[in-house]
Amino acid sequence: MTLTKEEIEKIMQIDCLSRGSTFQTDQSYVMRHYGEAGLEKVKQILAGWNHPIDYKAIKSMQWYPSGLRVLSLLALQEAFDLTPAQIKAMGVEGPPHSFVVRLLTNLFLSIEMMIRACEIFYRRNWSRGKFEIVSIDSEHKCSVTTLKGNDIHPLICQFSAGYIMGLGKIIGKKVSCDETKCTFRGDPYHEFTITWE
Ligand SMILES: [Zn+2]
Repeated sequence: MTLTKEEIEKIMQIDCLSRGSTFQTDQSYVMRHYGEAGLEKVKQILAGWNHPIDYKAIKSMQWYPSGLRVLSLLALQEAFDLTPAQIKAMGVEGPPHSFVVRLLTNLFLSIEMMIRACEIFYRRNWSRGKFEIVSIDSEHKCSVTTLKGNDIHPLICQFSAGYIMGLGKIIGKKVSCDETKCTFRGDPYHEFTITWE
């Protein structure tokens, strides 16, 4: 898979901003699994797409174009031949390896609290869209959440489902999360169904 100039420019026109910490998640995943040489490989692909990313210079609280984050994920996918399921698994690893997220989630005593906080985590990392809780059913250990008004890229959807699972992991719960509706599959919005044990 290599991207055409038109595809790259279309991605870069996505009208949304992402926090620098999302790029650091990509960087730390690459460093853990593929080391410095892996990161160089990703950086070379991005440079070839004329959108170089200097991961080490990224500031966690600064806003960057979301299109650039998409290119970062696509470059990882290309460099290491990652499947969408592996991108989701990458999302699962995100929260446990983030110092800030671990610090915040230390305060969560229940899965319900964690799900309610997803909205805050969403707003912290993305400038557009609304993450909402439709239901939390403690008895059946199931919750439905939606994301509206922000259609970035299907890889971000996969990553996000994994990220929610990763938040559950920090608080010691076995959480599953699947994207059950998606605008990239013709649905009017994104829906994430969360279940836990
Ligand atoms: Zn989606």
